Amino acid sequence: MPLAGLLQPLLSQLNSGVVLLDAELKLVFINQFIARRADLQPEDVKGKSLFEVFSDLPQAWLQRKLHGVLSLQVPAFSSWEQRQYIFKLPHLRPLSSDSAYMAQNCSMLPLTAADTGERYICILVEDATDAYVYQQQLQHSVARLQLANRTDGLTGVFNRSYWQQQLGYEIQRAERYQHPLSLLLFDLDKFKQLNDHYGHLGGDAVLIEVARLVAALLRDTDLLGRYGGEEFGIILPETDLTGAMQVAQRLCSAVAAHRVAFEQQQLLATISLGVTGFTSGLSSDQLIQQADEALYSAKRQGRNQAVAWRDSQSVYLKKVK
Ligand code: GH3
Ligand code: MG
Ligand code: MG
Repeated sequence: MPLAGLLQPLLSQLNSGVVLLDAELKLVFINQFIARRADLQPEDVKGKSLFEVFSDLPQAWLQRKLHGVLSLQVPAFSSWEQRQYIFKLPHLRPLSSDSAYMAQNCSMLPLTAADTGERYICILVEDATDAYVYQQQLQHSVARLQLANRTDGLTGVFNRSYWQQQLGYEIQRAERYQHPLSLLLFDLDKFKQLNDHYGHLGGDAVLIEVARLVAALLRDTDLLGRYGGEEFGIILPETDLTGAMQVAQRLCSAVAAHRVAFEQQQLLATISLGVTGFTSGLSSDQLIQQADEALYSAKRQGRNQAVAWRDSQSVYLKKVK
């Protein structure tokens, strides 16, 4: 069988790239797969330095690898997961990808010519763009799921379970580093009336808008979550009770001044807020309990206001006396 005569057509039809180098890393041969994508003529590159022809190669890294292959006479590999590509070639796939370049698995194989004993390296370039794209899609889906898993569907703020988990972490942090931490709970006032008057959709519009307005007034590090139907919680890291009361009053005024557009009407809503500061040894349930007591106190004192837990306790004590 004329094997030598078949090798050239075989290499040119192969659906992988073949780059043959001599011991000085000069090109001996590139197949059609590489030539077509790199827009080169195989005859033009013969005898030229690999790094001259492919100027985008990661030279220092690849040189080290190739010298290792030559001196140790063992193959080396590079997968797309380590390094997306070695040869910067376009991928010819109708796939949407973040990258226009072909993801590659490359094998660097030591070869010795049977007749002369001279040493060569063959770099095999396999197109791994499919795997790369599927992995990207998977990562996007996981990220979307993770987001959905911690988000409240109506308002887009954190849901209760994620928010409470974060409260646990923030308490640990505050405890460990002796940093201030405050908690704020707020509840929409007379929301039942609003629902009765404008319907559930009107109520929903107010919830969405209040959550958006409040979120816009917070720091990036504050954590806003929907604690219940029309009740929300805010974790304020690095904030003492005085600072938290200022935030609460700002939110209270902003909500009261806001108009929510709903079916050609302007809806008005107010919130009551309960605020408490973390003190060493408190659990997240105890902290929530304190903020809830303060919130209850704000409701009893006429709504549309913020009450700090210390105040609510003194109110409570006054009543008891
Ligand atoms: P208060 O000032 O004492 O808080 O009065 P309120 O009417 O707000 O009190 P209550 O907590 O008894 O009522 C809350 C209402 O919120 C009852 C419930 O139907 C409504 N609600 C809870 N979740 C949702 C929701 O997702 N959308 C709408 N539109 N309403 C909701
Ligand atoms: Mg309410
Ligand atoms: Mg409520």
